[in-house]
Amino acid sequence: MAFSTIVSDISYRDRPEDDNRTIRSSNSIVGYARSARSFASTAATSVSIAGSISSQLHGGYGHSLTRSWQSERQLTKSMLVYPLFISDNENDATSIPSLPDQKRWGLKTLVPYLETLVRKGLRSVILFGVPLKPGTKDALGTCADDPKGPVIQAIRLIRAKFPELYIVADVCLCEYTSHGHCGILREDGGLNNQLSVDRISDVALAYAEAGAHCVAPSDMNDGRIRAIKLKLIEAGVAHKVMLMSYAAKFSGCLYGPFRDAAGSVPQFGDRKCYQLPPGGRGLARRAIRRDIEEGADVIMVSRLPIDSTLSHIHKVKPASAYLDIISDAKEIGRDLPIAAYQVSGEFAMIHAAANAGVFDLKAMAFESLEGILRAGATIIVTYWVPDMLNWLER
Ligand SMILES: [Zn+2]
Repeated sequence: MAFSTIVSDISYRDRPEDDNRTIRSSNSIVGYARSARSFASTAATSVSIAGSISSQLHGGYGHSLTRSWQSERQLTKSMLVYPLFISDNENDATSIPSLPDQKRWGLKTLVPYLETLVRKGLRSVILFGVPLKPGTKDALGTCADDPKGPVIQAIRLIRAKFPELYIVADVCLCEYTSHGHCGILREDGGLNNQLSVDRISDVALAYAEAGAHCVAPSDMNDGRIRAIKLKLIEAGVAHKVMLMSYAAKFSGCLYGPFRDAAGSVPQFGDRKCYQLPPGGRGLARRAIRRDIEEGADVIMVSRLPIDSTLSHIHKVKPASAYLDIISDAKEIGRDLPIAAYQVSGEFAMIHAAANAGVFDLKAMAFESLEGILRAGATIIVTYWVPDMLNWLER
């Protein structure tokens, strides 16, 4: 836009008269350039406005409140989901060495821990089962939907003790299979997709019937979203159970140094044939589209199998490496909520760097979550939840 046009426009806008019909006519604008007060004031400043008035931005974020208005979405407690690892040792409160301030909980230790967090505004948790007792794992992952297993018991307990808390149940077999893979295997060691989907959908239904508000399959078997949705409909619970798909779950470097926490590392092979390759943006878009068509209510973007199993953090790639996928998910799933799982590795890395004096822990925690929000997520699963409940006002 030419400068003279801007001046005309500004002076026109400042014009005291009220003839709206002529105001709307672009041909008439030049005619009102007579009271060019804005030209005089602009010329009097030291700011050179060359071409466009939009060069001046500072006025829009000069105050802390107006800075917060610049975000499309504000970080709030209600958008956070806290991952909880529940073992079959009811007195468990074991620190997880690779995850600062995080513990594995048992059914007896969980309630007092949650009481504190709920009081501070915790709204939602996602549950992962960690069977530790010998003999609990087999080829079919039988223990996954055992009514006496850690997840189903934890769902019932939390529903009873904290009726307001929203419960997401991660659904996978790898914590429960003797081979550590996310499904049932063929003789050649590959996944038997049909049997795996049958089994995964049974497990999802069992969690839903135990009282989970949301089931979140993280296994990446083809067609499991449709199978779960159909079973939820058949059982008459589809109207009250949300189906959150880990649609874009990327494989990482397996077999890393952090196997101490849960013990679901594959005994042979890796998960690269069913989790997405890190460079596979197009594949991720196809997986997101497919899962929406199969009936997912929420799409989740996640990078690390470690976040579902706590067994292989490996070489850490931060969530920021996958912000483009979150943005893709928001574009493809325009009408769905988008969830992002902030990787445990990034959480650990921020702690390590803050301890080394690289940056301030709290400032970086906020920056990391705001980046995920900006990319398009409205639900964030993160280990920062206990801290954020202290730091956020609402
Ligand atoms: Zn798995």
